[in-house]
Amino acid sequence: MFSERYSRQILFAPIGQEGQQAIKRSRALIVGCGALGSAQVEALARAGVGNLRIVDRDFVESSNLQRQTMFNERDAAERVPKAIAAANHIREINAEIQTEAEVLDVNQSNIERLIAGCDVVLDGTDNFGTRYLVNDACVKHNKDWIYGAAVGSYGVTMTIRPHQTPCLRCVFEEAPPPGSAPTCDTSGVIMPIISVVAAVQVTEALKLLTGRFEDLHRSLMQFDVWRNEWRKINPGAPAPHCPTCGLGNFVTLEAETNDFSAVLCGRNAVQVLPSQQTRVDFHALAQKLRGVGEVKFNEYLLRFRTGDYELTVFQDARSIIRGTDEITTARSLYAKYIGN
Ligand SMILES: [Zn+2]
Repeated sequence: MFSERYSRQILFAPIGQEGQQAIKRSRALIVGCGALGSAQVEALARAGVGNLRIVDRDFVESSNLQRQTMFNERDAAERVPKAIAAANHIREINAEIQTEAEVLDVNQSNIERLIAGCDVVLDGTDNFGTRYLVNDACVKHNKDWIYGAAVGSYGVTMTIRPHQTPCLRCVFEEAPPPGSAPTCDTSGVIMPIISVVAAVQVTEALKLLTGRFEDLHRSLMQFDVWRNEWRKINPGAPAPHCPTCGLGNFVTLEAETNDFSAVLCGRNAVQVLPSQQTRVDFHALAQKLRGVGEVKFNEYLLRFRTGDYELTVFQDARSIIRGTDEITTARSLYAKYIGN
């Protein structure tokens, strides 16, 4: 039996006592804890999902606070990694649930480990590359996942049940070419659309976790909260020749790890990955860099400022380099100050 805490949710007939038990036994993976991810995390924590695995590669900045509702000014001032900051806040919201915070870049080396043991996967990412990776891993392991995206005042979401509904690749065969689609950097984004998309994603997650499959919306759902448009598009059946769910070619999982750098959307920043697995000794690195610039570090990351650039180095030697959107510049700064 549950305490008073979930009484209103249990009173809601489609959930009830039994549904609440199922929710409590569940584990959800939240891929990316920015705007959508932090809204999902908070709602799932309040709903009592027993275990939340939160993965994000970034740290909190003041420009996040307008829409990333889990975070506050102290998180931004201290540049707390988003996954850690979210887990810290969840402990204050609902101490009954477990959290697993992972500060890392989601890629083919870790996605299958991350989804293992999870009952549902929620998309909180900001890019198609990661979504195709999640799609491949979820179809391969037959895991339900909930796509979601928002930019400007527009948002879209779709729930994917591998082999029963179309997968992301059935609906969007290719990612839009770089530069062709609006991003949060070029078009901005307002918080209400985040709330709408995350609300639908979380509701779908609760339906999946409680086994109420007949209540899923079964569509590509689109919203524009500024233009007052709401649309449900029927995505049809899974495409028989879909490379992913039809033919079982999981190209993103098989890719060689040679993509060591990525420009971060609208941040004037580039992420650089180390060429090998390693663990950084922040004390030693700080000592090395102190003569050339300003260095600060905490248990999760080290920040180094020199000239117009700011380098943030995580424990796994991954770095986010601010002050440029040129991969070559970022890589040379990385080589110069951090090494390979
Ligand atoms: Zn498919």
